[in-house]
Parts: sequence; structure tokens; C-alpha cells
Amino acid sequence: MGKLQTELSIQSKARLNIGVEIPVLGLGVYQTSPGRSTQDAVRTAIGFGYRHFDTARIYGNEADVGEAIRDSGISREDVFITTKLWNSDQGFDSTIRACESSLKRIGVDFLDLYLIHFPVTGLRQESWRAMKKLLVTGKCRAVGVSNFTIRHLDELLSRSDLVPAVNQVEFNPFLYQRELLDYCHAKKIQLEAYSPLTRGERLNHPKVARIAAQISRNPAQVLIRWGLQHGLVVIPKSTREQRIRENSQVFDFHLSNDHMQILDSLNEDLRTNWDPSNVA
Ligand code: NDP
Repeated sequence: MGKLQTELSIQSKARLNIGVEIPVLGLGVYQTSPGRSTQDAVRTAIGFGYRHFDTARIYGNEADVGEAIRDSGISREDVFITTKLWNSDQGFDSTIRACESSLKRIGVDFLDLYLIHFPVTGLRQESWRAMKKLLVTGKCRAVGVSNFTIRHLDELLSRSDLVPAVNQVEFNPFLYQRELLDYCHAKKIQLEAYSPLTRGERLNHPKVARIAAQISRNPAQVLIRWGLQHGLVVIPKSTREQRIRENSQVFDFHLSNDHMQILDSLNEDLRTNWDPSNVA
């Protein structure tokens, strides 16, 4: 893990705290319809060089991710698959069962990364204990969490000797969680940015548009590159071929310090998803 430099490519990987490597760019498939849409998006992405796919049991498209990967002929070892434990499956035994079900649906023997989707009150510790078992038994190469705040991470670390490999959170210049980034960096937890494109809500922001125009890129590419230059793993979602390609064309330019500073100053605590801040 750690800061990634200018010499990135779509093959670039970050090393997680347990030694597993994760491609720094992945395709997200939230709100990508199950069936043909998901399969087409994954196939298209593979064609453009993506090797990292981010699904979840609640997205309903785990099977399609697995099928598209199998159809591509790429070997299992060359692709990185993340899925997530849904809230209603939290608890020790149910976490083990949920992982087995996800493995079956995807059609693989192991996950590269399994995440607790959300810090559900009263259940997350037991779920984390089960995640450790899944790691030890080889069902998952890495385990982590999602939507955890510093408070949730502190609690987890005080009760377990297993440090999450990843914390996947909403992160973009409009929700620039600098303290959380610093905390995760210090604890060797890789931060992964979901909704890196603000789900489209700020792609037309004048400052982002101006930077994009100055470097002959588009706003989505600027936001993805911003995350990469902050050392994040970034997982933009699209179902459109043109955008899936554009979103991967972020490795042949560099944002200057000035541009990074402008983007760093755009925080407005924008949440386009759920907000875990007040979860006890
Ligand atoms: P993103 O910020 O990735 O934005 C996706 C939206 O932007 C879609 O509407 C897409 O439309 C559009 N878009 C994509 N590329 C471009 C482009 N180049 N130009 C203009 N518009 C574009 O949002 P997500 O919330 O989907 O986040 C990404 C991934 O993160 C998810 O798919 C999921 O895997 C993960 N995630 C995890 C969560 C968690 O709780 N752990 C919560 C939310 C997301 P179109 O498809 O039509 O191109």
C-alpha cells in the first residue's frame, strides 16, 4: 500500500497489508442490472484491460460478474474479485454462510476481497470474527470493511488483532475525507474510493471542468486521477462502452500540484449514498 506515483498503468497494483496485490483501478457494478447489462459491462471492461471487479450480494449481479470473467478466458489468478457481506447476513455463522453463497453464485473457489458492507451496530464484531475465519481457511485472500469511520475502525482494532486490508468508502474531492485517509494510511489500511465520480452529481462543476479543459481530458478522468494520486484504489461504474474506456484512460497524464490543490479544496461533505457517521 502507500502513495502511488506518476508511473501508473491499468496493470498497476497496490500491495495490501497482508501482501495481496489489488489493481488500483476497478469496475464497480452497483446499479448495473443483473443479466446481460452486467455481463456486457464486465466483458467490455476486460477488453479495455480492467482486471478488478467490485460487486456485492445486494447488487444481485454476482453471478453475472463470474460468468463474464469465465467467458473471457482470463485465468482466475489474473482477475481480482471483490464482493460484500450484506447487512442482514451479519453475525458469525451467517457471515460464513453468506460467503459460501457468494462463492457459489460467482462460481469461484475463493474471493480476492470480502468486505463487511456496512458497520451494522451490535453485529459487526461477530462478522469480523467470521471474516478472520474466512481468511484463515482460504475462502478469501483478503478481508476488509466498507463505510467504516475512524470511530468504527478504532473499535474494531481495539477488539481484534486482524487489521482490515481495505476500507471502501465514498470518496471524491467533494467528500474529501482527509482525516480518514491519514488514519488508514497510518494503520496500513488501503482506502478504496466508491462513487469516485459523485454518481455524476458534480461532473459539471466549473473548477473540475476547467482543469479538464486545461489538460484536454474529461471531468470523470480528472476525478479518477485525483483519487489515484492520493494513493486510493478507485472503482468507477459505467455500463457504457465509451465511458468504461474513458475511465480507464487515466494513466497517461498527471495532475499538477496546483490542480491537486484546487481539487483538494472542493470538499462540501457531499454524500450521495448512506452516511455511516452516526452509526453507533
Ligand atoms: P460513480 O461515482 O462511479 O458514478 C457512476 C455514475 O456516473 C453512473 O451514473 C454512470 O452512468 C456515470 N458515469 C460513469 N462514467 C462516466 C463518465 N466518464 N462521464 C460521465 N458519466 C459517467 O458511482 P457508484 O456509486 O456506482 O460508485 C462506483 C462503485 O462503487 C459502485 O458501482 C460499487 O461497486 C461501489 N459502491 C460501493 C458502495 C458501498 O457501500 N461499499 C456504495 C456505492 C458504490 P453510466 O453507467 O450510464 O455510464
